[in-house]
Amino acid sequence: MASTDASALHYWHPIPADGRRHAFRGGRRWDGRASATTVCGAEVAMAAVSEMDWIYRPTCGYCWQRLIDEQRERDRAAGRG
Ligand SMILES: [Zn+2]
Repeated sequence: MASTDASALHYWHPIPADGRRHAFRGGRRWDGRASATTVCGAEVAMAAVSEMDWIYRPTCGYCWQRLIDEQRERDRAAGRG
């Protein structure tokens, strides 16, 4: 199931200025940094968000698809042994 590869770690965080929830690499949750690069390649300003942001911000489809593709790639590689 879940990979133990550290490079596979990512977290999601809503970006109010962008209106969507993007994925970020390098951990399980936001570490408080002021800016970060999304999995879909955008440099965005990070800020603490409210519970409502989590509820209302839709997930970025590009981040989502990219993570799915990468997971498939890892599964394929692991299956090949
Ligand atoms: Zn994104």
